[in-house]
Amino acid sequence: MSGKLPEGYDNTRRVHGEGARPDTEADSLAFVPEIKPGPNIRRVGTTVEDFEQNLLSNLYFQRGTTIESASAGDAYHTLAVTLRDRLVDRYARTVAAHYETNPRFVYYLSAEYMLGRQLNQNLLYTGTEQWTREIAEARGLSMETLATLDVEPGLGNGGLGRLAACLLDSMATLDIPAVGYGIRYDYGIFKQTFQNGEQVERPDDWTFYGNPWEFAAPDDQHVVGFYGKTESANGDSMAGPRRWIPSETVRGEPSHMLVPGYGTQTVNIVRLWRARASRQSFDLARFGAGQYGEAVQHIALSESISKVLYPDDSTELGRELRLKQQYFLVSCSLRDIIRRFQFRNRDWDAFPDKVVIQLNDTHPVLAIPELMRLLVDEHQVDWDRAWSITQRTFAYTCHTLLPEALETWPVALMERLLPRHMEIIYLINHVFLRDLDMRHPGDLRLMRDLSLIQEEPERRVRMANLAVVGSHAVNGVAELHSRLLAETTLRDFASLWPEKFHNVTNGVTPRRFVRLANPRLSSLISAHLGGDGWLTDLDQLAGLEAFADDNAMRERWRDVKRLNKVDLAAYAARTTGVVLDPQAMCDVMIKRFHEYKRQLLKVLHVVTLYNRLRDDPAATVVPRTVVFAGKAAPGYRAAKLVMKLVNAVADTVNNDPRVAGALRVVFLPDYNVTRAELIVPSADLSEQISLAGKEASGTGNMKLALNGAVTIGTLDGANIEIRDRVGADNFFLFGYNAEQAMSARRSGYSARSFYDQDPELRAVLDAISGGVFSSGDRDAFASVVDSVLGWDEYLCLGDYRSYVDCQDTVERAWQDRERWTSMSIRNTARSGFFSSDRTVRDYCRGIWNVEPVRVPEE
Ligand SMILES: *Cc1c(COP(=O)(O)O)cnc(C)c1O
Repeated sequence: MSGKLPEGYDNTRRVHGEGARPDTEADSLAFVPEIKPGPNIRRVGTTVEDFEQNLLSNLYFQRGTTIESASAGDAYHTLAVTLRDRLVDRYARTVAAHYETNPRFVYYLSAEYMLGRQLNQNLLYTGTEQWTREIAEARGLSMETLATLDVEPGLGNGGLGRLAACLLDSMATLDIPAVGYGIRYDYGIFKQTFQNGEQVERPDDWTFYGNPWEFAAPDDQHVVGFYGKTESANGDSMAGPRRWIPSETVRGEPSHMLVPGYGTQTVNIVRLWRARASRQSFDLARFGAGQYGEAVQHIALSESISKVLYPDDSTELGRELRLKQQYFLVSCSLRDIIRRFQFRNRDWDAFPDKVVIQLNDTHPVLAIPELMRLLVDEHQVDWDRAWSITQRTFAYTCHTLLPEALETWPVALMERLLPRHMEIIYLINHVFLRDLDMRHPGDLRLMRDLSLIQEEPERRVRMANLAVVGSHAVNGVAELHSRLLAETTLRDFASLWPEKFHNVTNGVTPRRFVRLANPRLSSLISAHLGGDGWLTDLDQLAGLEAFADDNAMRERWRDVKRLNKVDLAAYAARTTGVVLDPQAMCDVMIKRFHEYKRQLLKVLHVVTLYNRLRDDPAATVVPRTVVFAGKAAPGYRAAKLVMKLVNAVADTVNNDPRVAGALRVVFLPDYNVTRAELIVPSADLSEQISLAGKEASGTGNMKLALNGAVTIGTLDGANIEIRDRVGADNFFLFGYNAEQAMSARRSGYSARSFYDQDPELRAVLDAISGGVFSSGDRDAFASVVDSVLGWDEYLCLGDYRSYVDCQDTVERAWQDRERWTSMSIRNTARSGFFSSDRTVRDYCRGIWNVEPVRVPEE
């Protein structure tokens, strides 16, 4: 018996057909790409006059309007496509160089990308910043207006998505052949506003006015199947080949955005998939009968797959749609990777020599059974050979230590949604457990813990286990994190395959987070280092060391901070009405709201300061502005209540004349990359206060240190490496270390005893529960106080005294302005290691084994 495959699904009939329009028999014309790179002089001029002509021509021909009738939006759009033209030319040469060289490519699979605004980046990367300024200003348009029209694609939640974007930037800058694959969500991360201090989420319709940066590629659609059944294709073995007859299909349509390198000709791409219903989905008859909703129902259902980014940061939602999203990303991307491989290669055994696929966390881990399925079922590679190819192709980055954040999916759901993949996972598991039993005969505990299937309380597929078994390399994202992974979360795998485990400490791109975000500091740095070579060789920042105690330098360094704070104050006044003092210490805690990150501990400190000032208005407190920013997952009640408390404390503090001039608290709504670029340059103090052993790495900590903020932090994530490099004298350390935190929790941590023994802490918690910040309402924050007084997983009260005392040390240090400035300069000078260029080099050497390909100038 043989089932009928959905139309367009069976790609096996065409040899090179994966790129063809799925509803035609036409093969892809792009099988051997015919590339004729080279500048079109009319579009990519080399003088300011040419550039202006390019703009005018695009305004006329692309936008279809004239200078007399153009809106600001027309101007923005025209500028964007004119910059894009310049990048297209480099992209064409990049493709040609890659085709010529046939190198090993890095394919980065990530469910999230936080790319940030593109306009300023592309002005910088094409060297047209100054021209544009001149042309715009001559016509009465400010660069700021143009920048605000540039919409940030918010296709991620936080650190993980931003890391993906930083790595793409660095790969292009280092001439690494790479493609990023992701999902083109219609709605990105929600827009955050506040009502009565509570977070309200609004949809982020980021392409409402169109996205001038992307190129659609409708001819590269792929058809993705779901549900249905499997049957044998020849013989009865589960090892295949077998046929999967999906009962539902959807098309994935790609578009790509260009990812230029800085100071090089390389332009890579990030390819984003969007779900499209098949062409027959619109129900004309129903529409004719006036059933407008029903007529488009099928389209809406199919397209819901790429409708929204799940705004959940770490814990898993048991949602079928999310699993569909994951498979959708993986299926489209692998077909695309195979299509690209086949441009120049025939032999499947060469696949791992030409392809390395990096899995950014477990969200894309279905790529492992999907590659097996494609090789075994669609390309007739036998199982063992396919498995060897698969393992050599994949590498996996783990981003968490929190066990609740390790993704699992119910077997029942997998069997229904992806029946063939479930068979493949079973078979992978069978072979893996059989080998395990040979190495460790009869060790049932080991078998149970390492199995890809969790049995209790419900049968579920463990995605991290699948990732580790199916990859040749597994890495954590900071030294402590990688060590703890190998000692705790993935301990048994690490003893089984020690050679698989790596550390690659995260990094951030200095182009975006120093040069673009902080032009004043960048000019000062370049003036002292004799050029801007540091932008691609961040270790050069060490040259600033020589000026750390230089009075003239310190004066100018402080000036930069002050002017940045003036900008931040203007923004805060405009958006929140809170007036900030640019002379005050700018103390920032900007990151997702999560209990482990301990925004609550920061609130306890703010209330401590507030109490001190109220009790004694003459208390010598250093004037301080506390800046909060960050979103909470919409369903995360505990985090949202802390957020409400922050707003309530801010309200009370900012309206109390007794503390005016000494303490201000502001919560800047809608934290995103653009907001980070605004806040980071003005920070004096960087709050990195997660409970030790909880934060995988952090990257906000790196952005802030690079911009001269001094860190107050725990020995957690990359804080440890920051402290090792900037020096203990230039870092404020407090709190439990990871071992102490673990043993405190094991040995019956008692929050009560801290409350009982510390009068200042008691006064803080009593103020919160007594209604000081809730107009006398004692219930409003009762559950927050209860959470820290009870069995608090994050040991807030255990670290309170150490934290508050450390903040007192911070204040004393701040009072010595010259010394503080030296500390600030040393933080920048010694943070060169935290460039994502270094991160990419580490991946290249330790895991990817890829070589750069130089793209020639025209
Ligand atoms: C850098 C960044 C993060 C990560 O911040 P952490 O402090 O490392 O958690 C999150 N969101 C945005 C918008 C960022 O730019």
